[in-house]
Amino acid sequence: MQREVFAGLLALLEAGIFVDKMDFEKRYDVIVIGGGHAGCEAGLATARMGLSTLVITMNLDTIGQMSCNPAIGGVAKGHLVREIDALGGEMARAIDETAIQFRTLNLSKGPAVRSTRAQADRTAYRLRMKSVMENTGNLYLRQGVVEELVVGSGPKERSTVKGVRLNTGEFFKGEAVIVTAGTFLRGLMHIGFKKIPGGRAGDGVSAGLSLSLKSLGFTLGRLKTGTCPRLDSRTIDFSGVEVQELQKPGAFKPFSFSSPPFSREQLPCHITYTNESTHGIIAENLGRSPLFSGEIQGAGPRYCPSIEDKVVKFPERKRHQIFLEPEGYDTREVYPNGLSTSLPVDVQKRFLRTIKGLENVEILRPGYAVEYDFVDPAHLKLSLETKAVEGLFLAGQINGTSGYEEAAAQGLMAGINAALKIKGEKPLILDRSEAYIGVLIDDIVTKGTKEPYRMFTSRAEYRLLLREDNAELRLREKGF
Ligand code: FAD
Repeated sequence: MQREVFAGLLALLEAGIFVDKMDFEKRYDVIVIGGGHAGCEAGLATARMGLSTLVITMNLDTIGQMSCNPAIGGVAKGHLVREIDALGGEMARAIDETAIQFRTLNLSKGPAVRSTRAQADRTAYRLRMKSVMENTGNLYLRQGVVEELVVGSGPKERSTVKGVRLNTGEFFKGEAVIVTAGTFLRGLMHIGFKKIPGGRAGDGVSAGLSLSLKSLGFTLGRLKTGTCPRLDSRTIDFSGVEVQELQKPGAFKPFSFSSPPFSREQLPCHITYTNESTHGIIAENLGRSPLFSGEIQGAGPRYCPSIEDKVVKFPERKRHQIFLEPEGYDTREVYPNGLSTSLPVDVQKRFLRTIKGLENVEILRPGYAVEYDFVDPAHLKLSLETKAVEGLFLAGQINGTSGYEEAAAQGLMAGINAALKIKGEKPLILDRSEAYIGVLIDDIVTKGTKEPYRMFTSRAEYRLLLREDNAELRLREKGF
């Protein structure tokens, strides 16, 4: 008898009858899905604006993880980082405290296109971001996989977000939900013809959330990105490669207006080149590349081509430059920037060993490509709230962009706007004449995107005015 009553209760629970009552204690003002660069900024922004915030992410150990190269900033991206800082975001301070090298790019050009770029200690950056999240008031963390966005059930409420349901069946209520699922929506990794479900090497996949977005009427598309193999520095002959000269501390400034000047030892990068043998091996094996055999359907970033793309598109080029970037102070991992590939591992090893300095190199992690779903950003308002579902915001790679800085900028704005909405205030919309962040959001929302969108100075028609060094003057008051 007891068993039957228990089974009956279980059935009612499964049918959702007790959901509201059961979850009353698990109610937050804002729920953020994802702990990547967008999710961190979104969660910190809403918590700092006084709202109880739950950040749910697949793995707490990957909060703030850099999926690809260990660097923050670069042309136009550095502008975004300074703007994030001026508006009260975290990325600038996090990289200032964990960088292993800084440079100002385009020093010989005008101030509008000068940009700061820092090599990061990848692990230190991630741990620093996690620590800030753990120690921010109003901010709660939870490891879990969100399967479903829950919207109101009454006829008038159908377009209002109510919370999220995890794959464990738990339901968390929230007045606003910010989705920052990055490359994880139906993520599928490719190494040669091997296909591994997941949004990033070592991580799982987010399938239910993709279906949930689709069932709410959002148009999803498919994009692709890729990364390089990681190399063991003990197997690299650094005597055979060039050292990239370090800039003196006076030549660059930290990203944050509140950071002290950088004073740690800087680690240099090294430079080597591919050659005709490298290109020959790649060309011979194009039939084994998922990019060229039609296995990969999604569009990739044109500005960040794989090495097989470069060999095919620029046959006249006898060599391509490769930067050997150290991944941190306490690791032997090296990121060979310029060698993104999804060729099979045996081919990766063979072409790597044709390169000067890498004759005996060992791979620590193979390169791969990943395909994932994104949501057409035309579904968004300029506040990054969706037009169709009230209280639901999307930020980061899920909106068709690419890059840590682009993601962080959107996360920050979605967080600020979710908080303002709950407080009954007007959204913060940055104009194209005020900020690169304004250009980024205006571009994706009004034009949509067919390929991973990244920021360039050429996208900003007011670029002579929107400099890195005046971001504070432009935006600090708004941030305050
Ligand atoms: P992510 O950093 O991807 O974070 C997403 C977060 O959401 C993760 O914490 C994940 O655990 C969580 N999550 C997802 N689904 C769920 C769910 N259902 N429930 C709970 N949590 C969930 N950018 C470049 O600019 N240049 C490059 O060359 C480049 N190459 C890349 C190569 C690879 C292989 C990958 C994976 C990414 C690459 N990127 C590149 C992109 C860069 O990593 C992203 O732009 C950036 O990380 C996006 O930040 P995000 O916060 O939007 O998402």
